[in-house]
Amino acid sequence: MSDAPVRDAPAQSRANQKKELPEHFRDYKHVWVFIEQERGEVHPVSWELLGAGRKLADKLGVELAGVVLGAPGEATREAVAEAFRYGADLAYLVEDPILADYRNEPYSKALTQLVNTHKPEILLLGATTLGRDLAGSVATTLLTGLTADCTELAVDADGSLAATRPTFGGSLLCTIYTLNYRPQMATVRPRQMPMPARDANREGRVVSFKADLDEDSIITKILKFIPDRESTKTNLAFADVVVAGGLGLQSAENFQLVRNLASVLGAEFGGSRPLVQKGWIGSDRQIGQTGKTIRPKLYIAAGISGAIQHRVGVEGADLIVAINTDKNAPIFDIAHLGVVTDAIRLLPALTEAFRRRLSPHARDRLAS
Ligand SMILES: Cc1cc2nc3c(=O)[nH]c(=O)nc-3n(C[C@H](O)[C@H](O)[C@H](O)COP(=O)(O)OP(=O)(O)OC[C@H]3O[C@@H](n4cnc5c(N)ncnc54)[C@H](O)[C@@H]3O)c2cc1C
Repeated sequence: MSDAPVRDAPAQSRANQKKELPEHFRDYKHVWVFIEQERGEVHPVSWELLGAGRKLADKLGVELAGVVLGAPGEATREAVAEAFRYGADLAYLVEDPILADYRNEPYSKALTQLVNTHKPEILLLGATTLGRDLAGSVATTLLTGLTADCTELAVDADGSLAATRPTFGGSLLCTIYTLNYRPQMATVRPRQMPMPARDANREGRVVSFKADLDEDSIITKILKFIPDRESTKTNLAFADVVVAGGLGLQSAENFQLVRNLASVLGAEFGGSRPLVQKGWIGSDRQIGQTGKTIRPKLYIAAGISGAIQHRVGVEGADLIVAINTDKNAPIFDIAHLGVVTDAIRLLPALTEAFRRRLSPHARDRLAS
């Protein structure tokens, strides 16, 4: 007999583990999307998620529901009607004056109670400031798994949600499963998923739910609402045309060339992360994994190498034009059109060419 120490068999990889869903989770069915609305304005990520949720629900053969929380009234009802137009079969409506403005405590309570009563198998939220805050506390209260900032959602052969997201600083993608708990929760950043078609004639069922909420037991009080005027300044995520610069521009002064071209095209401007770190642009202009995800019709990247953390934020663009002095730069792997040249020389020429080409009428329209 060998003296070698007896070693345990290697632990089975979780990826190969068979799903053993406890009995009490087996009646969790249907796909839900949290419809994020504040003061009557629904965040567009909610519609993008209904598009993604529709595909999951169809694959599973279940219904797609929108979840609307808010104060009783017209705006909340309109959010429900709009959810049907973007693909929901039904909407869970929780109306309560306590839910007029977002506060973590009552929203978490209401959503948790709704989940425990109507039992969805998948619950999706936008990875916005509000959605991230709410998703974390709801998942913790329900003791279930939450995959944050997903870039892809799919249904596996066994019906599990396969939630893919970047990991190790964005250098790898990993797919995460919630095998033994329900609901399977995920957040997705705005503009990660395409906007689904809107059908103005589509209708659905409303399921009203009375949440057990008591203002006296809620610690956070809203004393005054002060809108952040800065927050609407950048429309990067939703712009049709985006011009961006990277370290290849070499100085903050040269970054002005990006702004000039953006101005002539009526476009938004942005940049890579090092530019934020150097103070050339504000953080609201950063594009990429830790900045904004964009889905423009045209994206012009000047002096940007195309690191994976930048790419994940721009891959949804219809047309990517890259300008770089290095013909082997990774940005050319995703660019539809590539120009191997000095951006500092090309950008002024492009700006001038567009200025001459675009009629004053078109310029006015783009600028408006
Ligand atoms: C956790 C984590 C999160 C991150 N998140 C983000 C993110 O959200 N967004 C992001 O952008 N980055 C992010 N990064 C940083 C990322 O890894 C890269 O370092 C960064 O994107 C590189 O920026 P860049 O392309 O401007 O600079 P560089 O990589 O230095 O590339 C400069 C490019 O310009 C070219 N060039 C040089 N001179 C010229 C010229 N005259 N004309 C034309 N081209 C020229 C060069 O050939 C080169 O390709 C993140 C990194 C980490 C670790």
